[in-house]
Amino acid sequence: MIPLGYLWLIPVFVVGAAVGSFLNVCIHRLPLEKSLLWPGSRCVSCLEPIRWYDNLPLLSWWLLRGRCRTCGARFSVRYFLVELLTAAGFAALFHLVVLENVHRFELLSRQQWSIHERGEVPWEAWVVVGHHALLFSLLVVTSFCDLDHREIPLSVTGWGTVAGLAFAIACPWPWPHTVSEALAGMPQGLPWWLLSPTVGPRFGLYPWPVWGPLPDWLSPGDPWTTGLATGLAGLLVGSILVRSIRFLFSVGLGVEALGLGDADILMMAGAFLGWQPAVIAFFLAVFPAVVLGIGQLIVRGEHAVPFGPSLAVGILGAMLGWAWIAPAVQVLFFNGLLLLVLALLSGTFLFLSGLGLGLMRKMRE
Ligand SMILES: [Zn+2]
Repeated sequence: MIPLGYLWLIPVFVVGAAVGSFLNVCIHRLPLEKSLLWPGSRCVSCLEPIRWYDNLPLLSWWLLRGRCRTCGARFSVRYFLVELLTAAGFAALFHLVVLENVHRFELLSRQQWSIHERGEVPWEAWVVVGHHALLFSLLVVTSFCDLDHREIPLSVTGWGTVAGLAFAIACPWPWPHTVSEALAGMPQGLPWWLLSPTVGPRFGLYPWPVWGPLPDWLSPGDPWTTGLATGLAGLLVGSILVRSIRFLFSVGLGVEALGLGDADILMMAGAFLGWQPAVIAFFLAVFPAVVLGIGQLIVRGEHAVPFGPSLAVGILGAMLGWAWIAPAVQVLFFNGLLLLVLALLSGTFLFLSGLGLGLMRKMRE
């Protein structure tokens, strides 16, 4: 018999498909600043309202073979693909967080057996899945808006940032752990960057607090100090990182390398995850961006690639892979002096190489 925990994947997939159907509406209407609620879904050719039984997620597109029932106009396969992507994404998030426990939550490893065999999922795990699913949904919308219009609606990233801050206050580090669970086995009074990689603080929903060890004016687990500080630092660092790299590129290369929409996406992700995963997400995003860029160059001969979808991949990678990333970066992220030196060096390097490239470009002209 299938362990009951795995049966949850089915309702989670169905909810994801329904959410995906709503995301399709967001992707098509928000860039045009149209209302999400009125009018109801209708065919863009004959304007006939689409009846509920023709608007079933995943199924209707196939039952109608991608055509309008009234006038026969074609509906893009994209509608179906966005629903499938969202449904599969939700199921994957549930699988990784609850069944695989990628965040290594003490709470979930204690209850492994009852989760897997009896399907008893603690409410805290649903909160974590909900948090991840909300960020995932927001990233699906920003990615497709970026692909379609090269523009990311501020209504999505703005409200997304507000939602992220609400999570930061409601679930401050080390939630869902208690403070004593989170700090168990850690030597007292030692700066966290000196810890050996195997002895880190426990990850919460926000994997790390804003700084470690926490300064005296922040008490762990307190929503209005630790929670708010973690969310605010995340949104500031995310936004400033993209904006400063964009500035350095435009000074040096004279090209618009990144959009302000990209800064807003990382601002939102920072509010959802804290500043350390936001920084890693940016660097992870470079790999898919380079692959997509080369692909685009071969297939279409175009240079510019929207960065939004790559950024989404980087954000999800940092969110789900933190248990593997953290040991390698805790020596850097809890060391203020090293961070400062590194930021100054890489800033200078980018600026000088940008200037150099700009000069070479001018000499060739
Ligand atoms: Zn029609």
